[in-house]
Formats: sequence, C-alpha cells, structure tokens
Amino acid sequence: MGWTDRQRAMLEEMGIRLWVPATAPPRAASAPGVGAPRPAAVAVPMSDRAAVPSAPAPARLTLDSDRASDLASEFAALDVGALAVRAAVCTACPLCAGRSRSVFGSGNPQADWMVVGDAPDADDDAAGEPFAGRAGQLLDNMLAAMRLSRGDAPRARQAYVTPSVKCRPPAGRAPEPREVERCRPYLARQVGLVQPRLIIAMGRVAAQSLLGTAEPIARLRGRVHRFEGVPVIVTYPPAHLLRHPQDKAAAWEDLCLALEVARDADAAQTDSR
Ligand code: SF4
Repeated sequence: MGWTDRQRAMLEEMGIRLWVPATAPPRAASAPGVGAPRPAAVAVPMSDRAAVPSAPAPARLTLDSDRASDLASEFAALDVGALAVRAAVCTACPLCAGRSRSVFGSGNPQADWMVVGDAPDADDDAAGEPFAGRAGQLLDNMLAAMRLSRGDAPRARQAYVTPSVKCRPPAGRAPEPREVERCRPYLARQVGLVQPRLIIAMGRVAAQSLLGTAEPIARLRGRVHRFEGVPVIVTYPPAHLLRHPQDKAAAWEDLCLALEVARDADAAQTDSR
C-alpha cells in the first residue's frame, strides 16, 4: 500500500509512524515505532492469508432472550429509517430515562464497512450522532488512514458508524450486560439491513453485543470473528486511545488486519468469477 501525504498525516495524528525498510522500496503500512519491525498481523503475505486466525464462535449471553426475540421479530419488517424512529421512542431498558435522544447511526447505510462502537457519550447524546466529539475526530483520522470515510466516498470506501447501545448511560458509566442485550436487536437488524462486508468492533461493549462474550479486548484482538457470517475485527475504541495513546500502534495493527481481510474477500470474489 502506498501512502498519500494526507494518509501519512492521519497516521501521524494517530501516533503511528511509517516504517520504511532502508534497502527496499516502501511496500506497506506501519510499525509502532521508529525502526521497529512491522507487526505480524500486517506482515502476513497474501498467499498465507488463510493463516490469519479465526476465532471460535463464543457462547452467546442469553439475558432477556425472550424479550430480545420479540424485538427481533418486530424489527424484521423495519427499514433503517423506521428502525431509527423506533429507537428514538424505545423504553426497553432503563437507559431511556437519561438520554437527550437516542443515537442511531451515521453514514451511508449501504456502506461496505461498518464501525460499531460502545455506547453514546455526552457529546454523542447532545449531537444525536455517534463519535461526535474528540473521539470522533480520531475515528475519522483512523478511517482516513484506511482510505475510508463516513462521509462522501464510493460505497466500497464508506463506513456506516453506529453505537451498539443507542442511549447514553448516566454519569459516563458503561452499559450493563442486561442493557446491552436489550439493545442488541437494534444492532442485529442494522447489520442485516446494511449488510456490510466487514465490521470493526471498537470497544468491549461492541464486542460483547456482536460476539456474545465478556472477554477483554486484548484477548479478542488479532483474530477474525464472525457475526451472522460477516467478518468482525475487534479493536480499542478511539476514546480509549485518547487516554492510552500507547495502544494506538496496536489499534493500527487491527485496522491493517481488517484491510487484509477485506482484500482477501475481494480476491476470493475475483477468483470465483
Ligand atoms: S439503549 Fe437501546 S434498548 Fe435501551 S432504551 Fe435505548 S434504544 Fe431502547
């Protein structure tokens, strides 16, 4: 992958420095520091892509499964707009009491990529948009470094962005498992409607909702998971990266893995024609 000046600037913004071998022309993306080798997840050659580990399907959390099933049935008939309206008046969990508005999603719902975050923060709640504040600026830089955008772009380069839980938890706390499960039918229906080619799960709650696991992000990274057949890559959320910039290099490894999985899918599609 060659890098434009803008992408280099975006990577710098992420805290990622590009590493270029001294004796070879630049070939691909970055390393976490000056002179360090490229991370293994990025260095997997195209011919060895099958070696990228796939995660075993975890057992799903089954909290409120009857209620979730009822919502899933109701949502099956809704399109994206109707689902957003439904979320705006939803009272299925206690988070409805503290929201200014529900935060449903941004970007083109026909996008090839989908970014799933945790829960709205105060900025998102005020704006009615996911990743609206400083974390959103970092997300946009991360997407730009991947040549993706949640704005105008060809569909293959667009990312639809949504929180896994649609209403802001009070006092900056994380959503509780019961709240995540109550809200999960919205996310499941969004994935069914958007039909992304790849999902990036940014955060523990996003992974919990999509994968039904309470495992920490550090144990979920570096593998290809699946949600309804769609590849899922887990990484740190931008808000975490703002507080812990030392994890930006690891996040960039995850994004490179996502790009690699997407290229695999393209190659497989081409081969099948
Ligand atoms: S968080 Fe989800 S389930 Fe809870 S009230 Fe909001 S939209 Fe409904």
